[in-house]
Amino acid sequence: MMAASAAIVTVGTEITTGLRLDTNTREIAAALMGAGYDTRETVSLPDDPDLVATCLRRLVAAYDLVVVTGGLGPTHDDITREAASEALGLPMSADPGIAHGLARWVHRHTEQRAREQVLRQALVLQGAEVLAATVGTAPGQVVQTPLGGRLVLLPGPPNEMRPMLQELFAHKVQGSSTVVEIACTGISESDAQVATQAALAEHPGVRLTILASPADVHVVLFDDGAGNEGILRAAESVRDALVPYWYSDDGASLASVVTRLAQALGMTLAVAESCTGGLVAASLTSVPGASSVFRGGVVAYSNEVKTSQLDVPEALIAKHGAVSGQVASAMARGVLRRLGTDVSVAITGIAGPDGGSADKPVGTVWFSVADASGEIPVMRQMIGDRDGIRTRATMFALNLLRLKIAGHE
Ligand code: ATP
Ligand code: MG
Repeated sequence: MMAASAAIVTVGTEITTGLRLDTNTREIAAALMGAGYDTRETVSLPDDPDLVATCLRRLVAAYDLVVVTGGLGPTHDDITREAASEALGLPMSADPGIAHGLARWVHRHTEQRAREQVLRQALVLQGAEVLAATVGTAPGQVVQTPLGGRLVLLPGPPNEMRPMLQELFAHKVQGSSTVVEIACTGISESDAQVATQAALAEHPGVRLTILASPADVHVVLFDDGAGNEGILRAAESVRDALVPYWYSDDGASLASVVTRLAQALGMTLAVAESCTGGLVAASLTSVPGASSVFRGGVVAYSNEVKTSQLDVPEALIAKHGAVSGQVASAMARGVLRRLGTDVSVAITGIAGPDGGSADKPVGTVWFSVADASGEIPVMRQMIGDRDGIRTRATMFALNLLRLKIAGHE
């Protein structure tokens, strides 16, 4: 079956000028893909009626479905409804039900013009099905256009748009296609690509995309003829090729994988952080239910705190430096003992931009993972700016916990 085609349009000068980030496109694109549509174009336009009308006319003639967000509200710059009416030659009329619902908002406005504006939101394109507003005031609309494609109008605010998007695809699924996203860390995107392509050699009909962010490489497999079963078999081969780097294939974050693993084995965790300043603890506590495994941590930024709170000997810091394997292991041992957990991880490094030296340049980060049997220190030379180094160090520390708990070493 040929997939139905789709396009996405976001309307708003706040988007085209960079005042606001367009997040709707990605949510709509994901929903369309889940519903089996092939999105061929995504477009962002300013609040300009002529531009919007011209674009809509072209898109509804070219694609099966066109989803538009933004510009459905009551203010002067909300022009999507009128532009669609003009572009498609579909007259609008006030829907009495919607107008009645809007009436209770009308009285909140003191200006007569403001009251009239609110009622513009009751205008519905001829033949359109209305998607009720559960959050805001502007309803959505779905209409079969005379130019061929179906047009969907949704409000711009993501919290108003989202429930309508869900309602739209809950009933109107067009045959779904499988997408598998395998998340990896500790491997470069190029290495991940080469390993994946080798695994895919025996699995035709699978399209591959690699999505990389600091210390996080996602291998995404799309159906390109293999079918759902084929994709799932291919994913199995790819996962095998990406051991020990892959950590989830169900959208779970690395922190939630660590939490899940520790929960399954009844283990407790603690962290001792210097250059990451609590980022590892923040990641772990962002997972619902983390309290069953995560006891707590110490942000030991100064040497005094490393000594007084984690029992790192002053002499050890003087001899090896705060950024060293010896100190990282002493921190991991200290927090393990003080908090009485089964496993701990410690991080001490130079996030920059200052503080580097010839033998310990910016980006030098020492880690140590500890349990009752002892500590394992490991050094990584992280790339990037201060934020990048801290993010990469956080991912690396979480991955050390994952490998330790899963018994990979
Ligand atoms: P309203 O009834 O709130 O006026 P609307 O459909 O007219 O709804 P807009 O006025 O276009 O929506 O946008 C309102 C706000 O919604 C914007 O200021 C912006 O914060 C957010 N928004 C709009 N479009 C997007 C988008 N594509 N991605 C993320 N946020 C968006
Ligand atoms: Mg608006």
